[in-house]
Amino acid sequence: MIEALNEIFSSNRVKTDADSLAHWGRDWTRNFKVAPRAVVFPDTVEEVTALVRWAGRTQIGLVPSGGRTGLSGGAVAGNGEVVVSFDRMNRILAFDPVDHIARCQAGVVTQQLQEYAKARDLFYPVDFASAGSSQIGGNVSTNAGGIKVIRYGMTRNWVAGLKVVTGTGEVLDLNRGLVKNATGYDLRHLFVGAEGTLGFVVEAEMQLAPLPDPQSVMVLGVPRLPDVLAVLGRFREIMPISAFEFFSELALQKVTAHRKLKRPLAEAAAFYALVEFDRANAEAALTLFEDCVEKGWVTDAVLSQSDAQAKDLWQLREGISESIAPYTPYKNDVSVRIAAVPRFLEEVDAVVRAAYPDFEVCWYGHIGDGNLHLNILKPAALDGTVFYERCHHISPRIFEIVERHGGSISAEHGVGLLKRDFLAYTRSPAEIAAMRALKQVFDPHGIMNPGKLFPS
Ligand SMILES: Cc1cc2nc3c(=O)[nH]c(=O)nc-3n(C[C@H](O)[C@H](O)[C@H](O)COP(=O)(O)OP(=O)(O)OC[C@H]3O[C@@H](n4cnc5c(N)ncnc54)[C@H](O)[C@@H]3O)c2cc1C
Repeated sequence: MIEALNEIFSSNRVKTDADSLAHWGRDWTRNFKVAPRAVVFPDTVEEVTALVRWAGRTQIGLVPSGGRTGLSGGAVAGNGEVVVSFDRMNRILAFDPVDHIARCQAGVVTQQLQEYAKARDLFYPVDFASAGSSQIGGNVSTNAGGIKVIRYGMTRNWVAGLKVVTGTGEVLDLNRGLVKNATGYDLRHLFVGAEGTLGFVVEAEMQLAPLPDPQSVMVLGVPRLPDVLAVLGRFREIMPISAFEFFSELALQKVTAHRKLKRPLAEAAAFYALVEFDRANAEAALTLFEDCVEKGWVTDAVLSQSDAQAKDLWQLREGISESIAPYTPYKNDVSVRIAAVPRFLEEVDAVVRAAYPDFEVCWYGHIGDGNLHLNILKPAALDGTVFYERCHHISPRIFEIVERHGGSISAEHGVGLLKRDFLAYTRSPAEIAAMRALKQVFDPHGIMNPGKLFPS
């Protein structure tokens, strides 16, 4: 096998040492077995094609690997697969100054594209805490969301074209940056969010947006969770908002301790809302805040007075994932329609309190999109496997509530290995059958990220 791989890639681009297998064989998760047989680093689309054809002949599974910041085990290789890292295909190949489209190799880091756009007085609006490591190929394959979805939508909205290598080794050039293209099935969108199960994204034409006006950030203390939604409603009545996030007091304690940050408000509240909006609306936001205090929804707030202060306030939300990582949290990333959020939260909270009386439960998320991150933190003394099994066992009770509210068991992190057993809470049998049929078309040998999304 190594000989065959060395024929496709020069030898320094095939790694089999234990450290490399452990490093590239997994994503941000820590609960899954990691056991790839090799890691390869293609430089060209032709090499990816040759690899796929070889894998089809030999029936060896391929695991696409981006920045490995995924939170669902999508890029974990646990069964002797070959990991295909896009770390070397990391160039922005072209820029179209009329259509404002950047043609990126799959391994371009998200932040690299953000900076590239900024240097041209443009804006790449998909943003989240792992943007400094995650790659465009990974973002497309998970349809990444993040903190600006409320205004700009998900990664899908910014994919103007895709070049993919399917599981048969076919190269497809999908949509080619067209705004209008009414010629049947838009296969581009099948590959967005496919988690590498249909083929490799090798290039993506990413649409850039105009630069936004200067932004302000306000953090508000909110004693009751349903009132966070009431505050969101008031903001939306008055002004366009770019972000609306929430986090609990426990999340604030973790992030302030981890990053040595100052607490935003003099008094603690059970929950906090972080709102971002055009600076031109700062006065209106202050009036709105007073109104919310009068209604009893909000106790206190802080409004950024500079870009630096806005950045500091954002750290309170953006640093949470990193601050709880040492507790190897069991992550739930669920969504419901915004109108259903208050009732949904109440029901989930009751289950969680009853099921985990001895665990710390950390709530935060993109509540303005109906997307909540529920993190159960592992007590230091508890064995990791026991903890994982216990949480996994309780998950169906949460997913039953998700199902009843017509929600999704994975809002933006993807299904991967973590949610694979629970797909049926969100997708009907007919939908799953259609997905399997599509997989058969693009990956008839079953070599593309086997065992992810649904059991192989
Ligand atoms: C601190 C932190 C904060 C985060 N916040 C958010 C957030 O707010 N919103 C959000 O959506 N996500 C968030 N994430 C999750 C993660 O960053 C995203 O899912 C991101 O899109 C993953 O990109 P990646 O390059 O790291 O992909 P990886 O983890 O490497 O892979 C993700 C999936 O894509 C597949 N894949 C990777 N590259 C390719 C390719 N070229 N072709 C085909 N398939 C491919 C992999 O096989 C895997 O299934 C966060 C993660 C961390 C660690």
